[in-house]
Amino acid sequence: MPRLAIEAHGVVQGVGMRPFVHRAAINRRLVGWVQNRRGAVAIEVQGDRESLSEFVEALEHDCPRPASIERIVVREVEERDERTFAIVDSVVDTALGPTIGPDLGICRECSAEMDDPADRRHRYPFTNCAGCGPRFTIVESPPYDRSRTSMKDFAMCEDCAREYSERCDRRFHAQPIACPTCGPRLWLLSPEGRRVASADEALQRAARAVAAGGILALQGIGGFQLVADATNEEAVQRLRARKHRESKPFAVMFSSLESIRRSCDVSAEEEHALTSPAAPILLLARGDAPLAEGVAPLNPRIGAMLPYSPLHRLLVAEVGRPIVCTSGNLSDEPMCVNEHEALDRLGTIADVFLVHDRGVVRPADDSVGRVGPQGLMLLRRARGYAPLALRLGEPTPVVLALGGHLKSTVALSIDGQAIVSQHLGDTSSVEGERLLARTADDLLAFYGARPEVIACDLHPDYASSLLAERLALSYGATLERVQHHHAHAAACIAEHRLAEPVLGVVWDGAGYGEDGTLWGGEFLLCEGSRATRVAHLRCFPLPGGERALREPSRAALGLLYEAVGAARAAVHAHAWFGADGSVLQTMVARSLNSPLTSSVGRLFDAIAALVGLRACNRHEAEAASALEFAAGTIDSEAPVDPYEIRLRTGCPAIADWEPLVRAVLDDWERGVSVARISARFHESLARLAEEVSVRVGAGSIVLTGGCFQNARLLARTHERLARRGFRVRVPRLYPPNDGGLSLGQILVASRRFRERGTSCA
Ligand code: ZN
Ligand code: ZN
Ligand code: FE
Repeated sequence: MPRLAIEAHGVVQGVGMRPFVHRAAINRRLVGWVQNRRGAVAIEVQGDRESLSEFVEALEHDCPRPASIERIVVREVEERDERTFAIVDSVVDTALGPTIGPDLGICRECSAEMDDPADRRHRYPFTNCAGCGPRFTIVESPPYDRSRTSMKDFAMCEDCAREYSERCDRRFHAQPIACPTCGPRLWLLSPEGRRVASADEALQRAARAVAAGGILALQGIGGFQLVADATNEEAVQRLRARKHRESKPFAVMFSSLESIRRSCDVSAEEEHALTSPAAPILLLARGDAPLAEGVAPLNPRIGAMLPYSPLHRLLVAEVGRPIVCTSGNLSDEPMCVNEHEALDRLGTIADVFLVHDRGVVRPADDSVGRVGPQGLMLLRRARGYAPLALRLGEPTPVVLALGGHLKSTVALSIDGQAIVSQHLGDTSSVEGERLLARTADDLLAFYGARPEVIACDLHPDYASSLLAERLALSYGATLERVQHHHAHAAACIAEHRLAEPVLGVVWDGAGYGEDGTLWGGEFLLCEGSRATRVAHLRCFPLPGGERALREPSRAALGLLYEAVGAARAAVHAHAWFGADGSVLQTMVARSLNSPLTSSVGRLFDAIAALVGLRACNRHEAEAASALEFAAGTIDSEAPVDPYEIRLRTGCPAIADWEPLVRAVLDDWERGVSVARISARFHESLARLAEEVSVRVGAGSIVLTGGCFQNARLLARTHERLARRGFRVRVPRLYPPNDGGLSLGQILVASRRFRERGTSCA
């Protein structure tokens, strides 16, 4: 009889692989064993040839949904005298390494049990199995064992204990295993913290409160969320007012795919992402949505998701309508994770609180993505993805990277792998800063690592940069500062393990540049640890600095002043700012508090203000998004006539927008539609990327930076470059926005460290 030794690598532990392998072997009358071993699953199987190849086939194609096998190594070994197929105890993993998976959305089997009135887990909101349920948000320290999770205080009942220890059960070693007899329970609290109902009654009363227009604070998987009826305009407006969130879109949870289809267009690829175990929020084109306008004002997209936990599943079904499901925080603060915090900070927002006693060890927001020209692109990477590791394909020292300022993440490299934390959000609040520091400590403790290098942004005042300095001192580690846009490009290079040189087209808000100006319209030729700025957008002044980020009309004034001169700019300045216009213009003329920027994000702002779309950003990128959406009616698959951006040669080459600004102004004054102006503007940038790429002649190009969250800009640029035969890569699992910075910092800092090592030796 032939015998095969198989090793399966990838996401294979804690996802129900062993019971699956056991069934697959038994069904084919194969003997042998399976075992978890150092981040892989090791299998030996013996039987007739046909069954063996069927078995390998099943392993490759039918393994449990949350598992993802990257690589299978099969070799033939000597026959053994064996009668059974066994699940052998795991080899205790003493090596460092990422072995804990992300939280996984509820599986089909668990859903079916919850719906079955005869099942002992009927309507139980904490149902899970080895193939689904929480992981990262409940584990305190590795290895992943119930005694080191927030389930440790729940003693298993006899039935659960049997399922847990039965090797071929779906719940074999499912650490958060629970049932109504022995597991966590629900309570409904008043805003004063009084328990007013428990278990199913709590759930039903919470749902009734939402259906009646109330606001619910819900203790979810990775922290608290705020919930309201997404079809009730008044309820949505009340939530906006109380949460101090004027206009930024809310995500909506629907009961089913069919329900989403009633409100949004869903492609096959989008369906695949929505129903994946990570179950992210997906930005979908809005159809004739029966949703309140206030959910996503003036926005052609809806952030839609499916219920990913049993609790959400019950709640949304009970409410009977789509629900707004947004992070439980005040604008810009981190989300609350425990009852105490929630009552304290959300007491003035929510009418009722639905809580439970399964602790949330670390916060994890919902992930957000969009399907673009290269498939799913995450814009926020958290629940369902963190802390999955990325193999970098090169050796690394232990680097701790602290990322940027907004959309913050922290990353750690060990043994050639990078582990990027969940999205932490804005670090400008005290709470945010604390979360950043705690997450850095958590990552190090979790993997038992001591950093040799600490990496951060070049910006001296970011909370993350200051923390990096402190940590470098206390660990005696080398501090490496990595330029913002270089880190953006490096993140995408790392994700795709691209061979260099690579041209990074990095279009962004504004990041600290090497020359003290604010960069953000960059072409960086990247090789090894270095990036050469081969071209950039011509700079223009931002009167008032920081304030210009919130007031796009200031960016417009700075741009106009440079492009058409003081006299013509003054007319607009007066219209936008009244008497303040001349003050602002004087600031620009005398270079007072008017930092220079090459940022494409600010160029978007300026053009949006110029054509009368938005004078203010009530949330990040509101004006830029408005400009993107304005082009909506014009086909994004076909090129339109671009405006001229003149490329002035030199090193770096300068992309001069002056002819573009003049032409936009002419079009606007001649009454050309904003839709057409916007489409032409997008096309101009896409053509600029094409022109620079041709001139530089690098075969591989990455498109990244916050501006590439703009679907039209990405699609047009991608199309033009691909048509020219360039190898184009875009960020996929690590966001193009500042959420990707920590990963890029890891790559650059680690290479610098290695280079220095070599030169010393
Ligand atoms: Zn399950
Ligand atoms: Zn039980
Ligand atoms: Fe950035």
